[in-house]
Amino acid sequence: MPDSIGQSVVPEISAKGITISDVEKDFILKSILSEIKKVVTAQQFDIWFSCLKVHAITDNSITFVTPNDFIKEWLSGNYTDLFSGAVYKVLNTLREVVFSTENEICGQAFANFSTDIPLSPGEGLFDEPYSASPNKYYSFGNFVVGSCNRLAHAAAVAVSESPGYAYNPLFIHGMSGLGKTHLLHAINNVLLSRRTLKTVYISCERFVNHYISTIRSNNWDAFRRLYRNVDVLLIDDIHFFENSQGCREEFFHTFNALYNARKQIVITSDCPPESINSLEDRLVSRFKWGLLCGIDKPAVETRIAIIEKKALLWGINLSYEAALYLAENVPDSIRELEGAIARLSKESKITKNSITLEMVRKVSREISGSKKVVNIEAVLKVVSGRFNVSVSELQSKCRARSLTLPRQIAMYLSRRLTNMSLVEIGGYIGGRDHSTVIHADEKITKLARKDKNLLFILQKLENELLK
Ligand code: ADP
Ligand code: MG
Repeated sequence: MPDSIGQSVVPEISAKGITISDVEKDFILKSILSEIKKVVTAQQFDIWFSCLKVHAITDNSITFVTPNDFIKEWLSGNYTDLFSGAVYKVLNTLREVVFSTENEICGQAFANFSTDIPLSPGEGLFDEPYSASPNKYYSFGNFVVGSCNRLAHAAAVAVSESPGYAYNPLFIHGMSGLGKTHLLHAINNVLLSRRTLKTVYISCERFVNHYISTIRSNNWDAFRRLYRNVDVLLIDDIHFFENSQGCREEFFHTFNALYNARKQIVITSDCPPESINSLEDRLVSRFKWGLLCGIDKPAVETRIAIIEKKALLWGINLSYEAALYLAENVPDSIRELEGAIARLSKESKITKNSITLEMVRKVSREISGSKKVVNIEAVLKVVSGRFNVSVSELQSKCRARSLTLPRQIAMYLSRRLTNMSLVEIGGYIGGRDHSTVIHADEKITKLARKDKNLLFILQKLENELLK
């Protein structure tokens, strides 16, 4: 790092960090990264550091933008000291190092946003929030393929190879933490690296926020220009549309404009189109025009392969026994598995010991112990809302057929998500005994194996309760 940087840049930094130009921020970032490059491997650099940007520099702190929560947690858990040292070298003063995600920074921008300023990308508020900078961590190369995600992966690769011509739209659904966002970014990365097509990656939540702020600013031209003039629109977590009818209407027109112009649309959701509450038939049917594919929970072998891949990528030494134990005991989402590996790595760094099976056991116990416990009233409430029956009907002794399935679902969910015993659940739901609860649980489990629609309903209710 040349000495001149500390002198030429630092004196201009004000407490609010507003006198730093983008060029200067870029220069400071490059200098900090070149310090970091000296002490990490090329692979680590590629995954964790190459995607960073500097958001703000004040007298006391420097804020780096990360593309997602995971990278933020990982960097703050493992590399804060390294950053502090590099920042000190470059800026000649100690500053607190803060990591913040793109979403958090945009969220603040939305929150601070006054109604009379037109909100649209390219108008100063965001630099490139809608196509998200290439996120090398989420590449096809880092994605482990198994029977749970083979079709979704193959379709995503095909779309990245010939957008608009392979499957259009491509609709990928699956529970949270199973790799949908990873695949969207992987497509985006391939396209961004070719630099020939205009792509927009956006989470549905941000699309909804943008829609709401456009209602205030009335800048529909900019809104429509942004989404309708792209070659590829990648929209994540479309189930967020559930509560916004106006936004669904706007998206319907965006969809038609893009589809008719043979532009590629890729959509993800936590359930298939027909299970998204209040999604109009016309959107449901459009989402099915192309290819619909689901991602399931990975089997143990795939989970082991994922753990081993992550350990390799992150430079962590994990024995096969440890990987097997994690794969068998952290079964829900890959996000949780990653969290477990990250905790193990942190712990072994602090204690300077290698990762033992005992540590693995402890971390997986902590993860299952920290799961949210749901109360039975909440279970009855979501089931009553979903099936349009009242809570008191669910708790009654009435044996009407319209009540049997919802009641059994309530028992099934209570057994999984609450701390109550079989006797307590049976007693609460209509004064039944424990064998009725076991029967309900077995019946719903069997039905869900055969009936995908029921499975999605269960997953959705469970997600809602665990939110
Ligand atoms: P979703 O969008 O479905 O909620 P994400 O794509 O955010 O899930 O995945 C959660 C985490 O798990 C990410 O860090 C991702 O890299 C990782 N992950 C998911 N599936 C795989 C896979 N098949 N191979 C490697 N990593 C995966
Ligand atoms: Mg996601």
